[in-house]
Amino acid sequence: MREYILKTYGLTKRYSNFIALNNVDLSLEAGKIYGLIGQNGAGKTTLMRLIAGLSIQTYGAIELFGHQEERQRQEELKRIGILIEESGLNGNMTARENLRYYRIMRGIPGSELEEELLEMVGLKESHKKKVKNFSLGMKQRLGIAISLLGNPELLLLDEPINGLDPVGIVEVRGLIKKISEERHVAVLISSHNLPELYQTCTDYIIIDQGEIKKILTQENLEEECQHHLLIKCEKVEALVAVLEMKLGTTRFKVMPDRSVKLYDYLDQREKVMRTLFENNILPTHFALSGDTLESYFLSVIRGEQGV
Ligand code: ATP
Repeated sequence: MREYILKTYGLTKRYSNFIALNNVDLSLEAGKIYGLIGQNGAGKTTLMRLIAGLSIQTYGAIELFGHQEERQRQEELKRIGILIEESGLNGNMTARENLRYYRIMRGIPGSELEEELLEMVGLKESHKKKVKNFSLGMKQRLGIAISLLGNPELLLLDEPINGLDPVGIVEVRGLIKKISEERHVAVLISSHNLPELYQTCTDYIIIDQGEIKKILTQENLEEECQHHLLIKCEKVEALVAVLEMKLGTTRFKVMPDRSVKLYDYLDQREKVMRTLFENNILPTHFALSGDTLESYFLSVIRGEQGV
């Protein structure tokens, strides 16, 4: 059975006349990493703040760990970890001192936890170094360690990769995967850049102007962006037979609009065309297709993906 950590129903947030989030229905499962992708102002932070109980929705409902009722939901908020902003770190303290400060503030016992979390995020060796001398990547990793203090089952990371250099990006992505694997938490991680999160997430949620435009798995995304020959013709059954019998391939897919995506023979398009002609199939469309991640993302938010 699917184990839902969070569900939202028609979640809407209005600021006077402006709708920052519109009718959002989401379901998040344990152990998955969700990439929340949207341009600046798309509504990512608004959604995270609503989930974390830092802001109140105008309409709609949030169900957290199976509870919708306000009092119980407030109680369940303890099971959520949120990435602390850089400004929440004390620059004159070391990583361990910052962790201790937040551990004590939140009434969490056990100083051995500090050691464990520093190890987890790869900051055990930072010793006496003050946080003000940390790289941005180190600060982000410390922020993530703090978010893990209460042993959360849902982790909300708002743009943890923003502003990092390529090494920092790789480190933070690796850390997020490690946390998900070792702790079986659900992670919701926002970014304005789809390629940045590619292969880090199990699922992607594309948001634009406060609306969810598309939800897809890593597998779906790969399929959407995979290069293929897009073939359209009158006799689809005959086309499929020719692909299987004459070209010996099953690496194709018949789409709902009866076009065919062929993932084989991309370098031998002439051979495909010749074989089709020889078997009396006259394509009305025959072209190499496939998006880059960036152009796929843009096509979704421009509404070119039939959503
Ligand atoms: P970014 O990547 O820039 O952080 P975002 O996707 O996180 O963007 P939000 O911060 O959720 O976007 O903002 C969504 C929209 O709601 C924006 O147009 C923003 O200006 C607006 N907004 C956010 N907070 C408020 C507020 N307190 N009052 C009025 N409008 C707000």
